[in-house]
Amino acid sequence: MSKLHNFSAGPSILPQEAIEASMEGIRNFAGTGLSVLEVSHRGKEFVAVVEETQAIIKELLGVPEGYEILFLGGGASTQFLMVAYNLLETKGAYLKTGVWAANAVKEAKYLGNVEVVASSEDRNYSYIPKGYTIPSDADYFHCTSNNTIYGSQMQSFPDSPVTMVCDMSSDILSRRIDVSKFGLIYAGAQKNMGPAGVTVVIVRKDILGKVTRHIPSMMNYQVHIDKETMFNTPPVFPIFSMLQNLKWVKKVGGVDEMQRRAAARAALLYNEIDSNPLFKGTIDKEDRSQMNACFLLSDESMENQFNAAWKEAGISGIKGHRSAGGYRASMYNALPLESVEALVNVMRTFNASSQSN
Ligand SMILES: *Cc1c(COP(=O)(O)O)cnc(C)c1O
Repeated sequence: MSKLHNFSAGPSILPQEAIEASMEGIRNFAGTGLSVLEVSHRGKEFVAVVEETQAIIKELLGVPEGYEILFLGGGASTQFLMVAYNLLETKGAYLKTGVWAANAVKEAKYLGNVEVVASSEDRNYSYIPKGYTIPSDADYFHCTSNNTIYGSQMQSFPDSPVTMVCDMSSDILSRRIDVSKFGLIYAGAQKNMGPAGVTVVIVRKDILGKVTRHIPSMMNYQVHIDKETMFNTPPVFPIFSMLQNLKWVKKVGGVDEMQRRAAARAALLYNEIDSNPLFKGTIDKEDRSQMNACFLLSDESMENQFNAAWKEAGISGIKGHRSAGGYRASMYNALPLESVEALVNVMRTFNASSQSN
């Protein structure tokens, strides 16, 4: 069977060679004659995997001194709570730009006082709020770099007077960022980094240890740091597989190349959405995501026909999220430009044939 054009929103496309290398590790891990699935996480071969993964993340993202990199379970969703456990004393400030940001607000409220500094909920999360003020008496400011479900993306980050925390689950490694602006970055791996099951946390050590509450061990970043991200058994296989993907990112040119590819894919698709009368975008142009492009049919009665056309072309995963509707093409790092070309061709042909009807 030929491979489908995989626009899945997450878990999502990985480079074929990372999948092959992951399979090889399942068969025979680092020449041990054993599978990576059946060896101790404390053995020297796996400790080397963890260290190499931390090193390659530092290199790819340009992580400065003073930061630790953790590989935790529980998904980005657990970070919504963990951030508040570790940082929230008097007040957390939040930018509410989508469903995930709203969930982060909800979880933080279990632990303390939350101020939503700005929200785009009034227009169905179709833009990124601007001109807001981050209160300087907050313990931290939390934002979501890319709104995976509705398809908006922060094109720049504010100069925050307090520690900035960012959920980068769906656009990490797709563009250059200045890590030093952030006290903490987290990302569930299953969009741009690897398979589901591991969450990457990049945390500046000096922001920790400032809250007075008792933090349960599994929720405590410092406990995980002290145990070199092995306080409990880490998600061994997702880490191993993520490393295979990160090696691919590095080999093909690093984050700069990922950024170039993301821009090319997004330009091609948005250009078609804007020029083809059968489709319309849903997000303010200046805030559009390069990772998740959301669009609607101008005439919803053509839905069945359009669905048949893209399925016929071997396209998979462009149905919109159940809370947003319409279509969403997720274009993560491993998606080849040819897949976007295939989708654009379907859209063009669909328009041409509707004209001739
Ligand atoms: C997918 C996603 C999440 C949720 O991640 P889980 O690993 O399923 O908990 C959170 N934030 C953003 C921005 C996401 O895209």
